[in-house]
Amino acid sequence: MALHLRGPVLLDDERVAPEAWVVGDRVTYERPHGFVGGGADDELTGWVLPGLVDVHCHIGLGAAGAVDAATAQRQALADRDAGVLLIRDAGSPSDTRWIDGRADLPRLVRAGHHLTLPKRYLRHYGRELASPEELPAAVGEEAARGDGWVKLVGDWIERDLGEAGDLAPLWPDEVLRAAVATAHAAGARVTAHTFATETLDALLDAGVDCLEHATGASPGQIERLAAAGIPVTATLLQVGLFEQIAARAGRYPVYAARMRGMHARRHEHVRDLFDAGVPLLLGTDAGGTIAHGRLPDEAAELARAGIPAASIVAAATWRARRWLGAPALSEGAPADLVVYPADPREDVRVLAAPAAVILRGARVA
Ligand SMILES: [Zn+2]
Repeated sequence: MALHLRGPVLLDDERVAPEAWVVGDRVTYERPHGFVGGGADDELTGWVLPGLVDVHCHIGLGAAGAVDAATAQRQALADRDAGVLLIRDAGSPSDTRWIDGRADLPRLVRAGHHLTLPKRYLRHYGRELASPEELPAAVGEEAARGDGWVKLVGDWIERDLGEAGDLAPLWPDEVLRAAVATAHAAGARVTAHTFATETLDALLDAGVDCLEHATGASPGQIERLAAAGIPVTATLLQVGLFEQIAARAGRYPVYAARMRGMHARRHEHVRDLFDAGVPLLLGTDAGGTIAHGRLPDEAAELARAGIPAASIVAAATWRARRWLGAPALSEGAPADLVVYPADPREDVRVLAAPAAVILRGARVA
């Protein structure tokens, strides 16, 4: 049984194939021997893209922390049905290894349990270390639990300062350096949650591989990011909530003002990153407050910020896959793909309504 994809099939920034076939769980560009086609079940027409990638998503995390397996499954299915077939999990308090045995659920690249300090992140979300000095050893443990990534909380509000409470880094510079070195020695890359300007230079000095949010990046830091080729997950859906976060932070006026300022500049900020040449990645930050399955909404937000549709599509598909070490749609690659009725490089709103989702060669939506 084969499936004829009557294309066009987008392979990367340059290459477009007129058609392809799904044979078993693989993609091929050679017409299968004896294939006739023309039936309702053996052909699909439309723009074929590699399965979307959500690089900042939390499976197994809900508003109150870890969730049960049934909830984690619903989260993964919502992502899948939106065309997301590869997820870099940006930290989860749940053990989601069972998902790897499920052919009907997206592929996961885990960052273990995200590392933080008591009272310096959302309660029940991260793994809270008793002291900053424990970070390097904990990074080693999470590197062993994850799939090549470790996630740190780089900064968060410091409430102990009362009215002067504001975003502040969690880790001393030398601890960060040792932590990133530990991850790299274990063959893992490091990404960090950061909102604050004050955190970024130390993260970059330490050799961090990716940044989440990075709303505080100054013009000079944006230049550093671009020169080092460090990608930023823009998470505009999350930054869009900064105004609400500020509204609830009446006891911390300094912090609230800073969050409001970053909210107001969020589109301009992402455009600054893009214009400087910083690679942008798409992440919903789903799990916790944001619902799963919203990667098309994140793409639409990036378009609203002025990022060209073709760049958004590339960032959500082949570029993210290459960067994570996952295949796109080359000959013989796993048939993880989405079919759209129009070209999303013309208008990313097309991503909101896939005509078909194929995972491991099977039509799942
Ligand atoms: Zn997150």
